[in-house]
Amino acid sequence: MDKYDILIIGAGCAGLSLAYKLIDSDLKICVLEKFARTKRIRKTWSYWDTYKHNFIDLESNHYEELEIKKGESVLLNCSNNKYVSIDSQDFDDYIIPKLDEARKIDLIFDSDITDVYKSSDGYCVESNGKHFFAKKVFDSRQTDISASLYQVFHGYFIKPKNNIKLKPKLMDFTEQNDFHFFYVLPKDDQSILVESTYFSKKVYPEEEMKQEIEDYIKKNLTTDYDVIRDEYGVIPMTTKEENSVDGIERIGISSGATRSSTGYTFLNIQKQTDYLAKHLKGIKSENPMKSFRWKILRKMDHVLLRIIMSKPKTSKSIIYDMFKKNNTDCLIRFLSDIPTIFDIIRIIANMPKLIFINHAIKSIFSKKV
Ligand SMILES: Cc1cc2nc3c(=O)[nH]c(=O)nc-3n(C[C@H](O)[C@H](O)[C@H](O)COP(=O)(O)OP(=O)(O)OC[C@H]3O[C@@H](n4cnc5c(N)ncnc54)[C@H](O)[C@@H]3O)c2cc1C
Repeated sequence: MDKYDILIIGAGCAGLSLAYKLIDSDLKICVLEKFARTKRIRKTWSYWDTYKHNFIDLESNHYEELEIKKGESVLLNCSNNKYVSIDSQDFDDYIIPKLDEARKIDLIFDSDITDVYKSSDGYCVESNGKHFFAKKVFDSRQTDISASLYQVFHGYFIKPKNNIKLKPKLMDFTEQNDFHFFYVLPKDDQSILVESTYFSKKVYPEEEMKQEIEDYIKKNLTTDYDVIRDEYGVIPMTTKEENSVDGIERIGISSGATRSSTGYTFLNIQKQTDYLAKHLKGIKSENPMKSFRWKILRKMDHVLLRIIMSKPKTSKSIIYDMFKKNNTDCLIRFLSDIPTIFDIIRIIANMPKLIFINHAIKSIFSKKV
């Protein structure tokens, strides 16, 4: 019988981050991951460097300026908080060997959890016919991804055969009726990530998005290139939060760590796991996902999502104007979940009043999206 203090379900960003931050504790920990060690899903996590976390040395790119384009364009100055990326493969290569070496941590792959239930002195987790016992369970599985709106993205990592210089584009809006834009990140290794992104009720399949990416590359970047790899993702844009059930605590995306109106999650996972690790070590710390600011931002996201859902085409102009009319540091704080109350007031004041008030009133009387 395997007995632990803590059992973490899922060795994704949240599960690995939490286990890593507990390496120096006295707790006996087990991380169980469904897929094989060799079958990791590679992702590129980008964000503004607004929070000091454990994995800063893995960051690359460090952009000081991002373009937002909708016919004309506006530049977002990121010199105070650079826009950086972490390749999840570097993250795995850094953390997994450290967990393998840690005396009190077992990291087990190929372990599909089929049941979790309360036992006499904690919880029992069942996987491949084996039983694991723990006093506390953290679960990062995404149980139900049904949402009213999804962020669907498909990106190509390309290597142009000719030398091209371009500015990173956070959003290059298309003329489509959907809320649709391209995201272009030239990377340190001379490759370029070109991603087509929808905020939509429809989960666009990977195949359907290929042609538009290829057309965009041909029209805007180059005709002569190799595709190194691709990345596809669907993030539910929902303000619903999965609460802990029966003391089994949710972490990562499944706990509502995603900023629902943008899809940014990585930094929130770091803040959440920093808090949990401190709490488990008996160090006093505030849960960032229970703060007043967090609650206000979720309410605001609810209104923004309703606007995007009901007026996708107009929303593109609203978002473009948001970048045009607001101070860049205020915007970066807002997008990074750390705005001051004045930032929030400024951003709301610069929105089209009628649409915002109309949807704010509707969102008071409606269920979470
Ligand atoms: C392609 C992509 C790009 C993204 N880019 C960004 C970005 O640029 N910036 C940003 O902030 N966020 C980004 N995100 C969002 C978010 O940061 C990532 O999705 C992040 O990896 C979420 O981590 P997680 O641990 O919550 O979930 P996951 O990484 O999905 O981890 C959950 C783990 O649980 C495992 N699991 C599932 N079921 C079982 C089971 N039955 N038994 C055992 N294990 C199980 C899964 O295999 C998985 O490893 C991106 C997401 C995707 C998909």
